[in-house]
Amino acid sequence: MTSTIRKDWDTYFMDIAYMVSTRSQCPRRHVGAVLVQGKKLLGTAYNGAPMGVPDCTEAGCMIAEQLELVIHPDGTEEMVKKERCIRTIHAEQNLLLFTDRMDREGATVYVTDQPCWTCANMLANSGVKEIVFHRPYLKDADKVTALMSQLGITFRSLDHYQPPAETVMEPTP
Ligand SMILES: [Zn+2]
Ligand SMILES: [Zn+2]
Repeated sequence: MTSTIRKDWDTYFMDIAYMVSTRSQCPRRHVGAVLVQGKKLLGTAYNGAPMGVPDCTEAGCMIAEQLELVIHPDGTEEMVKKERCIRTIHAEQNLLLFTDRMDREGATVYVTDQPCWTCANMLANSGVKEIVFHRPYLKDADKVTALMSQLGITFRSLDHYQPPAETVMEPTP
């Protein structure tokens, strides 16, 4: 008799989020998000341009420069210029656009990347009660974590998770 190791639910749904992220056409970042109610998958989304307009592979990324505070390991702070692609709607926001409020009440969102402040703020008002992420996004982590604890929304990262190898892209720096 062969024994098979069955995936736990966290791994199962995060794997799906990573699979979904491979649909993204932005070469800078591939993000996937799924909505789960109980053990049922109720929605999937990835970051992308609005339907009907050229995406990043066709029109190139739409780059915006922003100054970002970076705190170095020795405690010194520095303002660093960072480039972001603003052509895409973030995966979490697309997930909210394509799911129903009723389906979101009390549900869980699995997302490949820790949500940015705007996405977190919208998720906080979306009815979901739990957000599970994998890759950290340190820029907004402190205020996002504080917001979630204020609202009693479970906010946790999958620490020992390994995404399926074929789903992980190397972002262009
Ligand atoms: Zn892009
Ligand atoms: Zn976002």
